[in-house]
Amino acid sequence: MSFTNLGLSKPLLKAIEEQGYETPSPIQLQAIPVVIEGKDVLAAAQTGTGKTAGFTLPLLEKLTQTKPNMQKKQIRALVLTPTRELAAQVAESIKTYGKYLPYTSTVIFGGVGINPQLATIRKGVDIVIATPGRLLDIAGQQGIDFSALECLILDEADRMLDMGFIHDIKKLMKLMPDKRQTLLFSATFSPEIKTLAEGLLNDPVLVEVSRENTTADQIKQVVHFVDKRRKRELLSQLIKIKKWRQVLVFTRTKHGANKLTKELEESGISAAAIHGNKSQGARTKALAAFKANEIRVLVATDIAARGIDIDQLPHVVNYELPNVPEDYVHRIGRTGRAGQSGEAVSLVCIDEHELLKNIEKFIKFKIPKVDIPAFRPDPNIQAEPIQNGRGKGKGGKNSRNEPHSSKDGAKSNKNKRNRNRNKKDKK
Ligand code: AMP
Repeated sequence: MSFTNLGLSKPLLKAIEEQGYETPSPIQLQAIPVVIEGKDVLAAAQTGTGKTAGFTLPLLEKLTQTKPNMQKKQIRALVLTPTRELAAQVAESIKTYGKYLPYTSTVIFGGVGINPQLATIRKGVDIVIATPGRLLDIAGQQGIDFSALECLILDEADRMLDMGFIHDIKKLMKLMPDKRQTLLFSATFSPEIKTLAEGLLNDPVLVEVSRENTTADQIKQVVHFVDKRRKRELLSQLIKIKKWRQVLVFTRTKHGANKLTKELEESGISAAAIHGNKSQGARTKALAAFKANEIRVLVATDIAARGIDIDQLPHVVNYELPNVPEDYVHRIGRTGRAGQSGEAVSLVCIDEHELLKNIEKFIKFKIPKVDIPAFRPDPNIQAEPIQNGRGKGKGGKNSRNEPHSSKDGAKSNKNKRNRNRNKKDKK
């Protein structure tokens, strides 16, 4: 993943290149597109994660996208920081990344004369980086007009609370327009931060990057329990809501890969399948389209995926868990490479609980389970056996008919089902 896919325009890309940054850090990957989209963001990120570029880059991009209607130059963006050092650092970043853009900025903090600061603001600047106390003093002297403010960023909000700035922040907030974008960055999500966020942010996107994610363990793994027949719907929603751009999705069978590809296409998500029944030409073409971002989803079986050269994918989805735990490791190893963050999402139905247990035993890690209320499994559905060419999963009793044949079913029904599939495929 490079910076070019995040929605940043040329002047910013040029400045990034000059800094020698080759790939966005995990926080940048997550935050930049959502900030550009105009969403409020609540981000848990510590120093050293690249968080400053994570908000300054999209902030600068957003300023290029709106044409303010103002008589004189008014402040369009405000960054609040707990200390003057941090304010100076953020200002430096804004200067560095905004080198090829026309925006002006200034730093405001206490302990130095107020008059030069008042004079600078009076002349007009686009971006102010400030500590809350001094900014409030300036506001108290009618020295600053926030009426054109488009974006407010609170950096290291937890430290600002620890330092007792909460009242100053609240007073400043009253002077700002309600219609604005707000980003809150904090090293932790304490109850106090959550309360502050509730009052400040409007339907924020949560962005969380822990230190571990940025070092050895780059891959964030998650399991969503869901009924088999609702997996496709959940996958489409995840892709659309989370705005995933490049997703590698694994199915157990070739038929499953074809069926899912067709269904995704029908739901308006561009997809292609690669598996053993596809010609080399078709596979190469699908892979090239995927790499060029012309298709969003590549659906693959384990064997087909082994031979393909794709690195640094942000998202891998186990639409069906593999029967062999080692395959799980190969699959998720497709993401989070070379210093990149990655996310491996597994959609697990009742038939696959045993497979999940085996995988967790093999990787010596309990994968976090994230409940999606709208897709909570129906408790009345019972497990069915899983069977395909590579190893056997231990499902429960085959006590009911499979409502959705996205993969191979029990042996006794296999031929019949294949005949039905062939009929369907010919339609
Ligand atoms: P921060 O977490 O914002 O304090 O940034 C930590 C350091 O990482 C700063 O020195 C940045 O210049 C640097 N940095 C930020 N983004 C990247 C990137 N994508 N690649 C390499 N270095 C970066």
